Amino acid sequence: MSRLIVSVSGVRGIVGETLTFDVARQFGAAFATMLGPGKTVALGRDSRPSGKDFAKAIVEGLTGGGVNAVDLGMVSTPGVALMIKRLSADGGVIITASHNPSPYNGIKFMTPSGVNLPVEQAARLKTIWESGRFHTAGTPGKVTRDDRTHRLHIDAVKAIVNVPAIRGRKFKVVLDSINGAGSVPTAMLLAELGCELVHINGRPTGEFVHEPEPIARNLTGLCEEVRKHKAGIGFAQDPDADRLVIVDENGVFIGEEYTLALTAAYVLTRTTGPIACNLSTSRMLDDVAVRAGAKLFRTPVGEANVAARMMKEGCVFGGEGNGGVMDPRVVTVRDSLVGIGLMLDCLAATGKTVSGLVAELPRYEMLKDKFPCPLEKTGKVVAAVRAAYAARKGARLNDEDGLRIDLPEGWVQIRASNTEPIMRIMAEAADAEAATALAAEVRRMADAVVAATT
Ligand code: MG
Repeated sequence: MSRLIVSVSGVRGIVGETLTFDVARQFGAAFATMLGPGKTVALGRDSRPSGKDFAKAIVEGLTGGGVNAVDLGMVSTPGVALMIKRLSADGGVIITASHNPSPYNGIKFMTPSGVNLPVEQAARLKTIWESGRFHTAGTPGKVTRDDRTHRLHIDAVKAIVNVPAIRGRKFKVVLDSINGAGSVPTAMLLAELGCELVHINGRPTGEFVHEPEPIARNLTGLCEEVRKHKAGIGFAQDPDADRLVIVDENGVFIGEEYTLALTAAYVLTRTTGPIACNLSTSRMLDDVAVRAGAKLFRTPVGEANVAARMMKEGCVFGGEGNGGVMDPRVVTVRDSLVGIGLMLDCLAATGKTVSGLVAELPRYEMLKDKFPCPLEKTGKVVAAVRAAYAARKGARLNDEDGLRIDLPEGWVQIRASNTEPIMRIMAEAADAEAATALAAEVRRMADAVVAATT
Protein backbone atom coordinates (compact mmCIF):
# COMPACT_ATOMS: atom_id res chain seq x y z
CA MET A 1 0.00 0.00 0.00
CA SER A 2 1.22 3.44 -0.81
CA ARG A 3 1.65 5.88 2.04
CA LEU A 4 3.11 9.30 2.65
CA ILE A 5 6.84 8.83 3.14
CA VAL A 6 8.49 11.32 5.47
CA SER A 7 12.21 10.55 5.65
CA VAL A 8 15.58 12.27 5.83
CA SER A 9 15.29 12.78 2.07
CA GLY A 10 12.07 14.79 2.48
CA VAL A 11 8.43 14.04 1.81
CA ARG A 12 7.12 11.84 -0.99
CA GLY A 13 3.69 10.53 -1.88
CA ILE A 14 1.06 10.03 -4.54
CA VAL A 15 -0.43 13.32 -5.66
CA GLY A 16 -3.94 13.86 -4.34
CA GLU A 17 -3.91 10.62 -2.32
CA THR A 18 -1.18 10.71 0.29
CA LEU A 19 0.50 13.94 -0.78
CA THR A 20 -2.21 16.59 -0.81
CA PHE A 21 -2.03 20.37 -1.00
CA ASP A 22 -2.99 20.42 2.69
CA VAL A 23 0.05 18.31 3.53
CA ALA A 24 2.22 20.67 1.45
CA ARG A 25 0.78 23.71 3.25
CA GLN A 26 1.48 22.03 6.59
CA PHE A 27 5.08 21.32 5.64
CA GLY A 28 5.50 24.95 4.53
CA ALA A 29 4.18 26.00 7.93
CA ALA A 30 6.39 23.49 9.75
CA PHE A 31 9.49 24.71 7.90
CA ALA A 32 8.53 28.32 8.73
CA THR A 33 8.09 27.33 12.39
CA MET A 34 11.52 25.72 12.40
CA LEU A 35 13.22 28.73 10.78
CA GLY A 36 11.34 31.50 12.56
CA PRO A 37 9.64 34.66 11.22
CA GLY A 38 11.56 37.12 9.06
CA LYS A 39 13.63 34.40 7.39
CA THR A 40 13.77 33.83 3.62
CA VAL A 41 13.33 30.58 1.68
CA ALA A 42 14.09 29.96 -2.02
CA LEU A 43 11.54 27.68 -3.64
CA GLY A 44 11.65 25.76 -6.91
CA ARG A 45 9.80 22.90 -8.58
CA ASP A 46 10.48 20.31 -11.25
CA SER A 47 8.30 19.90 -14.34
CA ARG A 48 5.56 17.70 -12.85
CA PRO A 49 2.18 19.28 -13.68
CA SER A 50 1.15 19.34 -9.99
CA GLY A 51 4.25 21.36 -9.07
CA LYS A 52 2.72 24.78 -9.51
CA ASP A 53 -0.16 24.11 -7.12
CA PHE A 54 2.15 22.48 -4.59
CA ALA A 55 4.39 25.56 -4.76
CA LYS A 56 1.36 27.75 -4.04
CA ALA A 57 0.39 25.62 -1.03
CA ILE A 58 3.92 25.61 0.41
CA VAL A 59 4.22 29.37 -0.08
CA GLU A 60 0.97 29.80 1.86
CA GLY A 61 2.40 27.73 4.71
CA LEU A 62 5.71 29.60 4.68
CA THR A 63 4.27 33.11 4.51
CA GLY A 64 1.62 32.31 7.12
CA GLY A 65 4.52 31.63 9.47
CA GLY A 66 6.09 34.99 8.62
CA VAL A 67 8.74 33.56 6.28
CA ASN A 68 9.49 35.27 2.95
CA ALA A 69 9.43 33.09 -0.17
CA VAL A 70 11.48 33.64 -3.31
CA ASP A 71 9.73 31.77 -6.11
CA LEU A 72 12.31 30.46 -8.59
CA GLY A 73 9.73 28.79 -10.84
CA MET A 74 10.56 25.58 -12.66
CA VAL A 75 14.21 24.84 -11.95
CA SER A 76 16.51 21.91 -11.19
CA THR A 77 17.35 20.74 -7.68
CA PRO A 78 20.98 21.98 -7.98
CA GLY A 79 19.57 25.25 -9.33
CA VAL A 80 17.67 25.76 -6.06
CA ALA A 81 20.81 24.93 -4.09
CA LEU A 82 22.80 27.49 -6.04
CA MET A 83 20.16 30.22 -5.58
CA ILE A 84 19.96 29.65 -1.82
CA LYS A 85 23.60 30.68 -1.63
CA ARG A 86 23.34 33.53 -4.14
CA LEU A 87 20.35 34.98 -2.28
CA SER A 88 21.92 34.29 1.14
CA ALA A 89 18.58 32.63 1.90
CA ASP A 90 17.95 30.82 5.17
CA GLY A 91 16.81 27.65 3.47
CA GLY A 92 15.29 26.17 0.34
CA VAL A 93 12.49 23.95 -0.86
CA ILE A 94 12.32 21.93 -4.06
CA ILE A 95 9.11 20.26 -5.13
CA THR A 96 10.10 17.03 -6.84
CA ALA A 97 9.70 13.29 -6.56
CA SER A 98 13.05 12.96 -8.34
CA HIS A 99 13.19 9.71 -10.34
CA ASN A 100 9.84 8.37 -9.10
CA PRO A 101 7.05 7.83 -11.67
CA SER A 102 4.60 10.61 -12.54
CA PRO A 103 1.84 9.82 -10.00
CA TYR A 104 4.32 10.88 -7.32
CA ASN A 105 5.50 14.24 -6.14
CA GLY A 106 7.60 15.25 -3.18
CA ILE A 107 9.14 18.05 -1.15
CA LYS A 108 12.82 18.35 -0.26
CA PHE A 109 14.23 20.89 2.16
CA MET A 110 17.65 22.52 2.11
CA THR A 111 19.87 24.42 4.52
CA PRO A 112 21.40 27.92 4.04
CA SER A 113 24.48 26.13 2.64
CA GLY A 114 22.31 24.77 -0.16
CA VAL A 115 22.56 21.16 0.98
CA ASN A 116 19.83 18.72 1.99
CA LEU A 117 18.79 18.97 5.64
CA PRO A 118 21.06 16.94 7.89
CA VAL A 119 19.42 14.02 9.71
CA GLU A 120 18.81 15.91 13.00
CA GLN A 121 17.15 18.85 11.26
CA ALA A 122 15.04 16.57 9.07
CA ALA A 123 13.90 14.79 12.24
CA ARG A 124 13.07 18.13 13.87
CA LEU A 125 10.99 19.23 10.90
CA LYS A 126 9.10 15.93 11.00
CA THR A 127 8.40 16.37 14.72
CA ILE A 128 7.04 19.88 14.18
CA TRP A 129 4.84 18.63 11.32
CA GLU A 130 3.53 15.72 13.40
CA SER A 131 2.74 18.06 16.31
CA GLY A 132 0.54 20.17 14.04
CA ARG A 133 1.56 23.22 16.11
CA PHE A 134 2.76 25.85 13.68
CA HIS A 135 3.81 29.41 14.32
CA THR A 136 1.34 31.98 12.98
CA ALA A 137 2.86 35.39 12.26
CA GLY A 138 1.01 38.67 12.74
CA THR A 139 2.61 39.91 9.54
CA PRO A 140 2.75 37.34 6.74
CA GLY A 141 5.96 36.86 4.80
CA LYS A 142 6.43 38.39 1.35
CA VAL A 143 6.56 36.54 -1.95
CA THR A 144 8.98 37.63 -4.68
CA ARG A 145 9.93 36.09 -8.00
CA ASP A 146 13.49 35.46 -9.23
CA ASP A 147 14.10 34.16 -12.76
CA ARG A 148 17.91 34.14 -12.75
CA THR A 149 18.47 30.51 -11.72
CA HIS A 150 19.34 29.00 -15.14
CA ARG A 151 21.65 31.89 -16.05
CA LEU A 152 23.58 31.85 -12.77
CA HIS A 153 23.79 28.05 -12.71
CA ILE A 154 25.14 27.83 -16.27
CA ASP A 155 27.70 30.56 -15.53
CA ALA A 156 28.84 28.67 -12.43
CA VAL A 157 29.35 25.48 -14.46
CA LYS A 158 31.17 27.34 -17.25
CA ALA A 159 33.49 28.86 -14.66
CA ILE A 160 34.94 25.42 -13.76
CA VAL A 161 35.59 24.19 -17.32
CA ASN A 162 37.68 25.33 -20.28
CA VAL A 163 34.92 26.79 -22.46
CA PRO A 164 37.07 27.62 -25.55
CA ALA A 165 38.56 24.10 -25.55
CA ILE A 166 35.11 22.48 -25.40
CA ARG A 167 33.71 24.85 -28.02
CA GLY A 168 36.64 24.02 -30.27
CA ARG A 169 35.63 20.37 -30.35
CA LYS A 170 32.04 21.03 -31.52
CA PHE A 171 30.84 17.87 -29.76
CA LYS A 172 27.73 16.15 -31.01
CA VAL A 173 25.71 15.32 -27.90
CA VAL A 174 22.45 13.43 -27.43
CA LEU A 175 20.61 14.43 -24.26
CA ASP A 176 17.53 12.79 -22.72
CA SER A 177 16.04 15.23 -20.21
CA ILE A 178 12.90 13.07 -19.60
CA ASN A 179 10.87 16.26 -20.15
CA GLY A 180 12.12 17.32 -16.74
CA ALA A 181 13.49 20.42 -15.05
CA GLY A 182 16.86 19.97 -16.75
CA SER A 183 15.39 20.44 -20.26
CA VAL A 184 15.85 24.22 -20.55
CA PRO A 185 19.07 25.00 -18.64
CA THR A 186 20.95 21.99 -20.00
CA ALA A 187 20.11 22.86 -23.61
CA MET A 188 21.32 26.41 -22.88
CA LEU A 189 24.56 25.12 -21.34
CA LEU A 190 25.29 22.80 -24.28
CA ALA A 191 24.57 25.57 -26.80
CA GLU A 192 26.98 27.90 -24.99
CA LEU A 193 29.58 25.13 -25.00
CA GLY A 194 29.31 24.97 -28.80
CA CYS A 195 27.77 21.50 -28.87
CA GLU A 196 25.50 20.18 -31.59
CA LEU A 197 22.58 18.96 -29.53
CA VAL A 198 20.14 16.19 -30.34
CA HIS A 199 17.65 16.71 -27.54
CA ILE A 200 15.16 13.95 -26.84
CA ASN A 201 12.38 14.40 -24.27
CA GLY A 202 13.55 17.98 -24.01
CA ARG A 203 10.30 19.81 -23.26
CA PRO A 204 9.70 20.50 -19.56
CA THR A 205 6.15 19.16 -19.56
CA GLY A 206 6.57 16.58 -16.82
CA GLU A 207 5.39 13.93 -19.25
CA PHE A 208 7.58 10.91 -18.58
CA VAL A 209 7.73 8.96 -21.82
CA HIS A 210 9.78 6.23 -20.15
CA GLU A 211 10.32 5.29 -16.51
CA PRO A 212 12.21 8.32 -15.22
CA GLU A 213 14.94 6.59 -13.24
CA PRO A 214 18.14 6.91 -15.33
CA ILE A 215 19.11 3.24 -15.50
CA ALA A 216 19.93 0.96 -18.44
CA ARG A 217 16.49 -0.51 -19.14
CA ASN A 218 14.91 2.96 -19.39
CA LEU A 219 17.50 4.40 -21.77
CA THR A 220 17.39 2.19 -24.86
CA GLY A 221 16.01 5.14 -26.85
CA LEU A 222 18.98 7.31 -25.90
CA CYS A 223 21.45 4.59 -26.90
CA GLU A 224 19.76 4.25 -30.30
CA GLU A 225 19.88 8.01 -30.90
CA VAL A 226 23.60 8.15 -30.07
CA ARG A 227 24.27 5.44 -32.66
CA LYS A 228 21.94 6.94 -35.25
CA HIS A 229 23.48 10.41 -34.98
CA LYS A 230 27.05 9.12 -34.51
CA ALA A 231 27.31 11.33 -31.43
CA GLY A 232 30.40 11.56 -29.26
CA ILE A 233 28.47 11.07 -26.04
CA GLY A 234 24.93 10.66 -24.70
CA PHE A 235 23.59 11.96 -21.40
CA ALA A 236 20.42 11.23 -19.44
CA GLN A 237 19.08 13.24 -16.53
CA ASP A 238 16.40 12.45 -13.99
CA PRO A 239 13.35 14.76 -13.67
CA ASP A 240 14.96 17.19 -11.21
CA ALA A 241 18.31 17.07 -13.01
CA ASP A 242 20.50 16.11 -10.09
CA ARG A 243 21.43 12.68 -11.42
CA LEU A 244 23.32 12.07 -14.67
CA VAL A 245 24.22 8.93 -16.60
CA ILE A 246 26.39 8.53 -19.66
CA VAL A 247 26.19 6.60 -22.94
CA ASP A 248 29.48 6.14 -24.82
CA GLU A 249 30.19 7.01 -28.47
CA ASN A 250 29.13 3.49 -29.52
CA GLY A 251 25.70 3.93 -27.96
CA VAL A 252 26.57 1.73 -24.98
CA PHE A 253 25.14 2.64 -21.59
CA ILE A 254 28.26 2.54 -19.43
CA GLY A 255 26.49 2.25 -16.07
CA GLU A 256 25.55 4.89 -13.52
CA GLU A 257 28.63 4.21 -11.36
CA TYR A 258 30.90 5.61 -14.06
CA THR A 259 29.51 9.15 -13.88
CA LEU A 260 31.18 9.79 -10.54
CA ALA A 261 34.24 7.61 -11.23
CA LEU A 262 35.10 9.34 -14.52
CA THR A 263 34.47 12.88 -13.30
CA ALA A 264 36.30 12.31 -10.01
CA ALA A 265 39.29 10.86 -11.87
CA TYR A 266 39.33 13.91 -14.12
CA VAL A 267 38.93 16.48 -11.32
CA LEU A 268 41.80 14.84 -9.44
CA THR A 269 44.10 15.40 -12.43
CA ARG A 270 43.43 19.13 -12.03
CA THR A 271 43.39 19.59 -8.29
CA THR A 272 44.49 17.87 -5.11
CA GLY A 273 42.47 17.13 -2.00
CA PRO A 274 40.19 14.53 -0.49
CA ILE A 275 36.98 13.23 -2.06
CA ALA A 276 33.89 11.59 -0.56
CA CYS A 277 31.20 9.12 -1.59
CA ASN A 278 28.73 6.83 0.14
CA LEU A 279 29.36 3.26 1.25
CA SER A 280 27.31 1.84 -1.65
CA THR A 281 29.45 3.44 -4.34
CA SER A 282 31.73 1.34 -6.54
CA ARG A 283 35.26 0.35 -5.57
CA MET A 284 36.33 2.27 -8.69
CA LEU A 285 36.38 5.35 -6.43
CA ASP A 286 38.98 3.72 -4.19
CA ASP A 287 41.10 3.02 -7.28
CA VAL A 288 40.63 6.59 -8.56
CA ALA A 289 41.67 7.99 -5.17
CA VAL A 290 44.69 5.71 -4.83
CA ARG A 291 45.94 6.58 -8.32
CA ALA A 292 45.68 10.30 -7.55
CA GLY A 293 47.14 9.96 -4.07
CA ALA A 294 43.91 11.40 -2.65
CA LYS A 295 42.05 10.38 0.47
CA LEU A 296 38.54 8.94 0.02
CA PHE A 297 35.93 9.34 2.76
CA ARG A 298 32.98 6.92 2.75
CA THR A 299 29.69 7.94 4.35
CA PRO A 300 26.29 6.38 5.03
CA VAL A 301 23.89 6.49 2.09
CA GLY A 302 22.01 9.79 1.76
CA GLU A 303 23.13 12.88 -0.06
CA ALA A 304 23.10 14.95 3.15
CA ASN A 305 25.67 12.59 4.67
CA VAL A 306 28.04 12.95 1.71
CA ALA A 307 27.59 16.74 1.71
CA ALA A 308 28.26 16.98 5.45
CA ARG A 309 31.47 14.96 5.15
CA MET A 310 32.62 16.99 2.14
CA MET A 311 32.21 20.24 4.06
CA LYS A 312 33.82 18.85 7.22
CA GLU A 313 36.87 17.41 5.44
CA GLY A 314 37.25 20.11 2.80
CA CYS A 315 36.67 17.66 -0.05
CA VAL A 316 37.32 18.92 -3.56
CA PHE A 317 34.75 16.54 -5.07
CA GLY A 318 32.24 13.90 -4.11
CA GLY A 319 28.97 12.22 -4.88
CA GLU A 320 27.05 9.00 -5.14
CA GLY A 321 27.35 6.01 -7.43
CA ASN A 322 23.79 6.50 -8.69
CA GLY A 323 25.00 9.17 -11.11
CA GLY A 324 25.31 11.99 -8.59
CA VAL A 325 28.35 14.25 -8.83
CA MET A 326 28.94 17.02 -6.32
CA ASP A 327 31.44 19.79 -6.98
CA PRO A 328 31.66 22.31 -4.13
CA ARG A 329 32.87 24.98 -6.57
CA VAL A 330 29.28 25.06 -7.87
CA VAL A 331 27.05 23.43 -5.21
CA THR A 332 27.50 20.62 -2.69
CA VAL A 333 24.45 18.91 -4.14
CA ARG A 334 24.31 16.34 -6.92
CA ASP A 335 24.32 18.29 -10.18
CA SER A 336 23.88 16.84 -13.69
CA LEU A 337 24.95 20.10 -15.34
CA VAL A 338 28.26 19.95 -13.47
CA GLY A 339 28.64 16.32 -14.56
CA ILE A 340 28.02 17.23 -18.22
CA GLY A 341 30.43 20.18 -18.07
CA LEU A 342 33.19 18.10 -16.51
CA MET A 343 32.76 15.17 -18.92
CA LEU A 344 32.98 17.45 -21.95
CA ASP A 345 35.95 19.24 -20.38
CA CYS A 346 37.63 15.86 -19.87
CA LEU A 347 36.97 14.76 -23.48
CA ALA A 348 38.32 18.09 -24.76
CA ALA A 349 41.40 18.08 -22.52
CA THR A 350 42.40 14.47 -23.09
CA GLY A 351 41.29 13.96 -26.68
CA LYS A 352 40.04 10.53 -25.61
CA THR A 353 36.69 8.88 -26.28
CA VAL A 354 34.21 7.92 -23.55
CA SER A 355 34.89 4.21 -24.12
CA GLY A 356 38.63 4.93 -23.96
CA LEU A 357 38.22 6.66 -20.58
CA VAL A 358 36.06 3.78 -19.31
CA ALA A 359 38.74 1.28 -20.37
CA GLU A 360 41.27 3.06 -18.15
CA LEU A 361 39.25 2.21 -15.04
CA PRO A 362 39.27 -1.24 -13.48
CA ARG A 363 36.19 -3.25 -14.44
CA TYR A 364 33.89 -4.49 -11.70
CA GLU A 365 30.50 -6.10 -11.70
CA MET A 366 28.00 -4.77 -9.21
CA LEU A 367 24.90 -6.57 -8.12
CA LYS A 368 21.90 -5.37 -6.14
CA ASP A 369 19.35 -7.54 -4.36
CA LYS A 370 16.52 -6.76 -1.98
CA PHE A 371 14.21 -8.88 0.13
CA PRO A 372 11.32 -8.29 2.55
CA CYS A 373 12.39 -8.12 6.18
CA PRO A 374 10.24 -7.07 9.15
CA LEU A 375 11.66 -3.87 10.66
CA GLU A 376 12.23 -5.54 14.04
CA LYS A 377 14.50 -8.13 12.46
CA THR A 378 16.85 -5.89 10.47
CA GLY A 379 19.16 -5.37 13.45
CA LYS A 380 19.37 -9.12 14.06
CA VAL A 381 20.20 -9.73 10.42
CA VAL A 382 23.06 -7.24 10.53
CA ALA A 383 24.32 -8.73 13.81
CA ALA A 384 24.30 -12.25 12.35
CA VAL A 385 26.22 -11.17 9.26
CA ARG A 386 28.69 -9.24 11.39
CA ALA A 387 29.31 -12.27 13.62
CA ALA A 388 29.91 -14.47 10.59
CA TYR A 389 32.47 -12.16 8.99
CA ALA A 390 34.18 -10.67 12.05
CA ALA A 391 36.78 -13.40 12.23
CA ARG A 392 37.21 -13.87 8.47
CA LYS A 393 40.77 -13.31 7.31
CA GLY A 394 41.27 -10.12 5.31
CA ALA A 395 37.76 -8.81 6.06
CA ARG A 396 37.33 -5.11 6.92
CA LEU A 397 33.98 -4.25 8.45
CA ASN A 398 32.31 -0.83 8.39
CA ASP A 399 29.03 -0.43 10.27
CA GLU A 400 28.30 3.25 9.61
CA ASP A 401 25.41 2.21 7.34
CA GLY A 402 24.11 -1.30 7.89
CA LEU A 403 27.23 -3.36 7.40
CA ARG A 404 29.79 -3.26 4.60
CA ILE A 405 32.39 -5.98 4.40
CA ASP A 406 35.44 -5.34 2.25
CA LEU A 407 37.27 -8.49 1.23
CA PRO A 408 40.27 -8.87 -1.07
CA GLU A 409 38.01 -10.22 -3.84
CA GLY A 410 35.28 -7.57 -3.50
CA TRP A 411 32.79 -6.08 -1.07
CA VAL A 412 29.27 -6.70 0.07
CA GLN A 413 26.91 -4.43 1.99
CA ILE A 414 23.61 -5.16 3.70
CA ARG A 415 21.38 -2.37 4.97
CA ALA A 416 17.79 -1.73 5.92
CA SER A 417 15.76 0.63 3.75
CA ASN A 418 14.93 3.99 5.37
CA THR A 419 11.43 3.94 3.93
CA GLU A 420 10.18 0.35 3.48
CA PRO A 421 10.33 -2.99 5.39
CA ILE A 422 13.00 -4.36 3.09
CA MET A 423 16.74 -4.93 3.24
CA ARG A 424 19.13 -4.32 0.40
CA ILE A 425 22.27 -6.24 -0.45
CA MET A 426 24.92 -4.84 -2.75
CA ALA A 427 28.00 -6.70 -3.86
CA GLU A 428 30.83 -5.82 -6.18
CA ALA A 429 33.70 -7.94 -7.47
CA ALA A 430 35.86 -8.43 -10.54
CA ASP A 431 33.20 -10.55 -12.26
CA ALA A 432 29.51 -11.32 -11.96
CA GLU A 433 30.11 -14.82 -10.61
CA ALA A 434 32.19 -13.56 -7.70
CA ALA A 435 29.72 -10.74 -6.93
CA THR A 436 26.81 -13.22 -7.00
CA ALA A 437 28.64 -15.52 -4.61
CA LEU A 438 29.30 -12.66 -2.17
CA ALA A 439 25.66 -11.53 -2.22
CA ALA A 440 24.32 -15.10 -2.00
CA GLU A 441 26.34 -15.85 1.11
CA VAL A 442 24.96 -12.80 2.93
CA ARG A 443 21.44 -13.50 1.65
CA ARG A 444 21.57 -17.05 3.10
CA MET A 445 22.56 -15.64 6.51
CA ALA A 446 19.74 -13.07 6.32
CA ASP A 447 17.13 -15.64 5.22
CA ALA A 448 18.02 -17.82 8.22
CA VAL A 449 17.37 -14.91 10.59
CA VAL A 450 14.13 -13.90 8.86
CA ALA A 451 12.85 -17.50 8.89
CA ALA A 452 13.65 -18.03 12.58
CA THR A 453 10.55 -17.67 14.77
CA THR A 454 12.37 -15.97 17.63
MG1 MG B 1 16.76 13.45 -8.60
